[in-house]
Amino acid sequence: MPNPKHRHSKTRTRKRRTHYKAERPATMVCPNCQETKLQHRICPNCGYYNGRSIITPKA
Ligand SMILES: [Zn+2]
Repeated sequence: MPNPKHRHSKTRTRKRRTHYKAERPATMVCPNCQETKLQHRICPNCGYYNGRSIITPKA
């Protein structure tokens, strides 16, 4: 198995990891209630998806 010959510095690791970043989740405005919701998910505010009521939201 190929193995690294030398340990590399913390700086080198951290420099590489500067490119790792959490992505913002894809959101959209609900066409029924105008609330922000996740795409391809039932709206947690009004319970609508694809133009019809799927669930009844709690209170
Ligand atoms: Zn909604």
